[in-house]
Parts: sequence; structure tokens; C-alpha cells
Amino acid sequence: MNLLDASLERTEVRRLLARLGIAEEQSGVVHEEWAESPAGEPWTVVSPADGGDLATVRSGAEEDYDDAVYVAQRVWPRWRDCPAPRRGLIVREMAEALRMAQEDLAVLITLETGKILAESRGEVQEMIDVADFAVGLSRQLYGRTMPSERPGHRLMEQWHPLGVIGCLTAFNFPAAVWSWNAFVAAVCGNCVVWKPSERTPLTAIAVQKLCGAILARHGYGGVFTLVCGAGGVVGERMAADRRLALVAATGSTGVGRRVAEVVGARLGRTLLELGGNNAAIVMADADPRLAVRALLFGAVGTAGQRCTSIRRILLQRSVAGEYREYLVRAWEKVRVGHPLAAQSLCGPLIDRAAVRRMQEGLRAMREQGGEVLYGGETVERDYEGKPLRGGCYVRPALLNSHGGMAAVREELFAPVVHLMEFEDLDEAIALNNAVPQGLASAIFTGSVGAAEQFLSPRGSDCGIANVNIGTSGAEIGGAFGGEKETGGGRESGGDSWKAYMRRQTATINSSRELPLAQGIRFDL
Ligand code: NAD
Repeated sequence: MNLLDASLERTEVRRLLARLGIAEEQSGVVHEEWAESPAGEPWTVVSPADGGDLATVRSGAEEDYDDAVYVAQRVWPRWRDCPAPRRGLIVREMAEALRMAQEDLAVLITLETGKILAESRGEVQEMIDVADFAVGLSRQLYGRTMPSERPGHRLMEQWHPLGVIGCLTAFNFPAAVWSWNAFVAAVCGNCVVWKPSERTPLTAIAVQKLCGAILARHGYGGVFTLVCGAGGVVGERMAADRRLALVAATGSTGVGRRVAEVVGARLGRTLLELGGNNAAIVMADADPRLAVRALLFGAVGTAGQRCTSIRRILLQRSVAGEYREYLVRAWEKVRVGHPLAAQSLCGPLIDRAAVRRMQEGLRAMREQGGEVLYGGETVERDYEGKPLRGGCYVRPALLNSHGGMAAVREELFAPVVHLMEFEDLDEAIALNNAVPQGLASAIFTGSVGAAEQFLSPRGSDCGIANVNIGTSGAEIGGAFGGEKETGGGRESGGDSWKAYMRRQTATINSSRELPLAQGIRFDL
């Protein structure tokens, strides 16, 4: 690999893919009884980093999906009966395998998504962290016992696996989001059928092969299965499939709404992780050096394509002028470049359509009264003047915006940030909450009182609320997810595991009497 000029020769790409078990003409259906020639259309995966072809993937159709569910259903009773700590030990081997493959996987994520290598390494690290977490969890799937009101009775809650679950993932975290679901779901005793984004099948195939091989070695092949395919075909089929006890969907609010409707119509369960529109509040007493660094990573990291990316910066009026200057100065220093180059801070957007959407979004913002302070244009040359190929590079943008703009209530999945002003904390919190989404939020302040108000029930209405750090880059230990149109789901840490299990309340009578609850008498 030639990281110096940040390009990978074709042969190096081929070698990388081969090490990860991916052929140049690759089946997108991967499981125990994998289809060499699935019935869907073949499509070529193009790297946004340079517009080069990476591999051709033959996608799955409905029948391939049905096969995958069948394979999963067949192994599930044995996986369910495997003690949870033993399931955990198998996931531990996955963590080890990911550690070994971390660099190769990170390079593949970078090539496929365009995120800079440091962030791709972080994504694989996140998978490892979730796997380690799931190993510990496998011994802690606690139920509670409660004192029974009846003598000689025991009352308890216990947790059982759901069965086969479906997992739909977005392009921007092509591996980590699956692992949040899959590793936790697996130690809980479930099988997981995965349909990744059409734009990132290769990372999914590599991860599936790595983890699937470990399961197969232990005789549990089929616990994880993968079907790459179109959202409108495989995704729709998954949502409508009564065999799936849960559909965990990560993606845009529009897709999540559709999935919720289809799954809801069959009274199935969903776990939804949808779009965000995240604000960071900057109070006059904030530390500007800390705030500006955090705002920069939050807004520009992953080229603004994180669900938790900062989309709105709310500035207290008395310091708004100076912050505008700090921010423009920081944004000017952002090195847009090839995502494999060590110095790049901002790689390309996922594809040319995303660049078009960003340009259209900026046009609409201007029409609504937004004023571009900095950036927004496409970029043809990197920070050293070297040409950038593929047509997916943009300069992160800062806009002066106001609350009356419809655009500030929408998620534009690109590095575009609205700067807005407020007078006092009450107004800032109202602005923070005045959008349909409710994922992540942050406040920068030196005041304990302001921080506490932001975190109180009167404060942020989001699933994530941070003080003196940005909105993105969550650790896996806490439950992750958001409110309102973000879907209400929680994944990863905390007690999110409960979403992958069914709760059973059991009462055991060890006495020779039959007292009824609430003191009811029903004697003959
Ligand atoms: P997307 O909504 O276009 O696609 C997400 C997944 O849904 C893909 O696998 C897609 O094929 C599938 N899909 C599409 N149509 C479907 C249908 N009719 N039925 C079932 N599945 C269907 O999202 P994207 O562009 O890949 O990702 C970006 C979006 O994801 C952003 O809105 C971002 O905020 C969101 N996201 C949210 C989180 C979170 O945790 N809240 C995390 C990552 C991304």
C-alpha cells in the first residue's frame, strides 16, 4: 500500500480484498449455504475516494433472503440452548479476529465509504469494544425477583431470546452499527440476518465472513447471515417477514417510517435508529479553545455524514461575533484530501448524488435567507494541490441561519452547519428542541447551573446530551439512540440488550395454599 501518495494500486486493492475473502466478482449472499450466483442484479462498488471500481457484487433477491432466514431458523434452537456465557466466548473470538484484521478492515471501510483512515480504525475499534462488552454481558442478562404479596410464592422476571432478527444498516457506519446489534443480539441467543447498505456491501461481506467462520467452527454456522440487496426488495421483504421477531433498522427517517409502518402492520417489533439534526449550544462562559475543537470534529468528522454530526451551532449573542471568526478560521484549516492520506481531515462524500444533494440543500438555504459564511463548494485539489478524483469532495460549509428557515429543521447529510444566535439558556434549549429529530445535543459552558439545566427534564429532549464535548463519537458503554423522528430505539450499551429479548414474568407457588393476588376470594 502506498500511503505516501495516498493511492492504492489496483493490485494492492485486489490483495486487500483477497485477504478479507472478497473476490472481484463476489456473491452478496454469505452464509452456510451461500448462493454463488444469487438472483439479484450485479452492481459495481465504486470508491468515493477516487472513483475507481473496487469489485462487482451480485445482490440477493427475495428467494436468497428466504434461504438466509431458513438457515438461521434451522440453527436457532441450538443457539438458543447454548448457555449465554458460552455464546459470549464465541463472540470473544470474534473480537480477537477483528483485532487481527483491524487494519485491513479499516482500509476497506475507507475505500468503500471515503471516511478518513483514523475514523475507520475507530469504527473497527468500536466493533471490538462492543464485542468485549457483549462477552461481559453474556454473564449479566439479569432478571429481577420481587417480593410476592402471597406467602410461599416467588415472583420473578426472566429474559429469553427472541429468535431470528433482521438488521438493516446505513452506509456511514458499514460495520459498527451491525456489531452493536449483532454481538449483543447473539449473546442474548438470537440469530441475525443482515442487509447492509447498497453502497457498502464489501465491508459487510468481509465482516460476515470473518464472524461467520468462527460460528461455523463451533458448529453454529448460520447464526449470522448476510444478504446484500436493494432496500426496496430485500429490505421490504425483511420488514414484512413475520418470521422475524425484531427488525433493527438504522437509516434515514423516511426509510425508518416505512419500516415502522410495514412491521407495525404485522404487530412486529422494531428498533429504529434514524436521522439526527444535532445542535451544540455555546454559552458566553464556554472555553473557546475546547469548544471550537469539539465543534470542528462534530461537524466535519466523517465529512458531516454521521447521524450525530453537528448540524446547528447555537451561539450566545454576546459572543456570537467572535465565535464566527474562530469557526471560520478553524474551518479554513480543514485539510480536504484522499481519506487514506495521513494528514486528511475530511474525505469525500459517499457518492456524487450526495454532492448534488448538498449543493441543492445549500441553494435552498440561501433562498430561505441563509448566508454562506464559508465553504460549500466542490473541491478538485487536495490541501497540497494534488488532484482529487471521483467528484465527491466538498469544502465543509458554515452558514448564518435563522429559526424561520425550513432547512434548519431538516437533516442534510453533508458537512453543512447553521450558525444561529440566542439570548439566554431558555431560548437556546427551545431552539435545540425545535426540530423533529431528537438524537444528540451538547452544551459548552463553565456553569454547573447551565449544564444541569440542560440535562434536566426542562433541558435537551435528545437521547444524547453532552456537556463540554461534541455531539458525535459516543462510547459504546451507554445506550445509543434518539427520540422523536430519530425513532426512539436504543442500541449498544446500558440495558439496550433488553430490546433483543422477551421478558417473561413468572410466579412460582411452593405452598399448599392458593391465595389470590389483591386478596380476591374465589372459594366454592
Ligand atoms: P437509508 O435510509 O438510505 O438506508 C438505510 C438502509 O435502509 C439501507 O440498508 C437501505 O438499503 C435500507 N432501505 C432502503 N429502503 C428500504 C425499504 N423500503 N425497506 C427497508 N429497508 C430499506 O440511509 P443511508 O443513506 O444509508 O444512511 C444515512 C442515514 O442514516 C442518515 O439519515 C443518518 O442520520 C442515519 N443514521 C442513523 C444512525 C442512528 O444511530 N440514529 C446511525 C447511522 C446512520
